[in-house]
Amino acid sequence: MSATDYEVDIRDHQFVLFEQLKVQESTDPKYADFDAELYGMILDEARKMAEGTIAPINGPGDRSGCSWKDGAVTTPAGFKAAYKTFCEAGWGATTVPQDDGGQGLPAPVSLAVLEMFTGAGCAFMMYPGLTTAACNLVRHMGTDWMKETILPHLVSGNWAGTMCLTEPQAGSAVGDASTVANRDGDTYLLQGTKLFVSGGEQDLTENIIHIMLARTPDAPQGIKGLSLFMVPKLIVNPDGSMGEVNDIVCSGIEHKMGINGSATCTLSIGDGGGARGWLIGNEGEGITRMFHMMNEARIGVGVQGLAVAAAALGNATSYARERIQGTDIKKFKDVTAPRVPIIEHADVKRMLLYARSVVQGMRSFSLTVGAWADEMLDGGEGEHKDIVDVLVPILKSWNTDQCFEVCRLAVQVYGGYGFIGEYPVEQHLRDSKIFSIYEGTNGIQALDLVGRKMSMKGGAAFMATLNFLNESIEELSAHESLAAEKAGLEKSRDRLGQAAMHLMQQGMGGEQDLPISHACDVLNLFGDVVIGVFIARQAVIALPKLTELAAAAGKSADDAEWLAEDSEARFYASKIDNLRFYVHQVLPRTAGLLRAVTSPDRTVMTSVL
Ligand SMILES: Cc1cc2nc3c(=O)[nH]c(=O)nc-3n(C[C@H](O)[C@H](O)[C@H](O)COP(=O)(O)OP(=O)(O)OC[C@H]3O[C@@H](n4cnc5c(N)ncnc54)[C@H](O)[C@@H]3O)c2cc1C
Repeated sequence: MSATDYEVDIRDHQFVLFEQLKVQESTDPKYADFDAELYGMILDEARKMAEGTIAPINGPGDRSGCSWKDGAVTTPAGFKAAYKTFCEAGWGATTVPQDDGGQGLPAPVSLAVLEMFTGAGCAFMMYPGLTTAACNLVRHMGTDWMKETILPHLVSGNWAGTMCLTEPQAGSAVGDASTVANRDGDTYLLQGTKLFVSGGEQDLTENIIHIMLARTPDAPQGIKGLSLFMVPKLIVNPDGSMGEVNDIVCSGIEHKMGINGSATCTLSIGDGGGARGWLIGNEGEGITRMFHMMNEARIGVGVQGLAVAAAALGNATSYARERIQGTDIKKFKDVTAPRVPIIEHADVKRMLLYARSVVQGMRSFSLTVGAWADEMLDGGEGEHKDIVDVLVPILKSWNTDQCFEVCRLAVQVYGGYGFIGEYPVEQHLRDSKIFSIYEGTNGIQALDLVGRKMSMKGGAAFMATLNFLNESIEELSAHESLAAEKAGLEKSRDRLGQAAMHLMQQGMGGEQDLPISHACDVLNLFGDVVIGVFIARQAVIALPKLTELAAAAGKSADDAEWLAEDSEARFYASKIDNLRFYVHQVLPRTAGLLRAVTSPDRTVMTSVL
């Protein structure tokens, strides 16, 4: 691949899906129509769509951005054609059951495909991504009329969906939303202003279905007073035909540091008397209904982090293989020594190894959580429900913060060229910043983890998560050669336990503000351990396969020449390297995080800023 292209890491997707999660062996009747061959074909088609249709419009779309005139939004050149191709191929509704017109894919396969598309163009994918969320909401909570008349259009992608929560005074504090909904017969008339609505207006679809939080006039203050509405751009008649234009105007779009191809819109609602909206569920249930969708949305943003980090890693690795600069350090005094690709320099290797272990760890983690969340589809409790509840804020925050870090390293690998618009990594860096902000900022996720999830069910959910981590670490016992890595993981796991115990003691002592001030440190420590465990789970699978390949070739498993020639052996060896590098070079930072968490220092509380 060239330094500007996008290439899917198809081998790693296959590894996670087929060797780690074994999706092809599922006995779930929902997935009876699928087998390994069909999944393989789906992944291959998705790769082609990502590389051939979405990636080519990503850079140009960033440079031109969207434009706004008199309430209408024009998306970048090429977006319309790509969107049409994307929808016609049925990629807009991968998890929607086949009976409802979707592909009915299991969540891990759907997330793998989503990662490919998002890595190719995260701004473009905002449009179908939010439509999928609206689809699922209508499917699970809509009235029969909505399911019959609205859902098929969302599934086909003819219509798009949005999520309208944010208002000027109501960002993280969603409960401060003041958009009002007055009952008018069977429907409601809404008035207010929604801000930062992704895809709030665009030229890709015939209609837009806004999913909107608003409060009825006599509703209590705060989140309990919110209700959820479906507010179409073009009113839908009872028989499903298109009615008049609703009272919603896009009064402007934002000029942003990234995801420029995604229109971020201000919506003026009801200035002409009221925008017609249909209640979803009952009055006052808005936030409960939104919460229902929260895990899915947060996993989706975590996968955005994985996707863009993977794209940056791919670009940086191929650039480092091509860029010639300097000599081997051992020959630096020899002016005639051959010049080498920068991938041979230790510092560049360090950056790439960091990025690879983190990206592949995130992939292993994200797709597994997706598989567990799948167990809870259609209202099921699921064996792993408590663990998913604990891990979702980590998946959203750790993935997205580490995505930004991986993108920073990718820019660094490129040197000065990384800073130049001609190369893709500066766009990745800019695009990825928003992931840590929307869908609940990472600070809010940390509060959710420390203030709610870790003490949920009297700490039982946290203990279930710890048990899973322990069992995974224990699997390393079967491999003598990974004993040092097992010990390193145990040490970090113990630090997580100590941090949790410390928080609990402080909470019991009536000290609330100090633990809360460390919420992000705890989340980062927790995330570091979780990713280490997911990297270890891969190493445990890869080691016997590498040993087997080495025996068949009559080679030693660390024979560098053989590994350079045999891509399969090199792939499995990379999983062991990921574990060694991550445990010995990354996990030691958990010691620093624990020290910060348990420090009696109260500067955050006492400092006057
Ligand atoms: C490009 C883009 C796309 C978006 N798309 C959508 C969309 O489609 N739909 C939608 O509804 N919204 C969308 N948003 C809005 C986004 O979800 C909000 O920006 C986000 O929730 C944060 O709200 P805010 O910007 O008002 O920041 P604030 O809430 O003002 O937060 C500012 C800072 O204060 C911190 N903070 C706030 N409250 C607390 C607290 N109680 N405790 C600790 N720290 C706190 C935050 O963590 C953050 O660091 C989008 C935003 C952007 C920029």
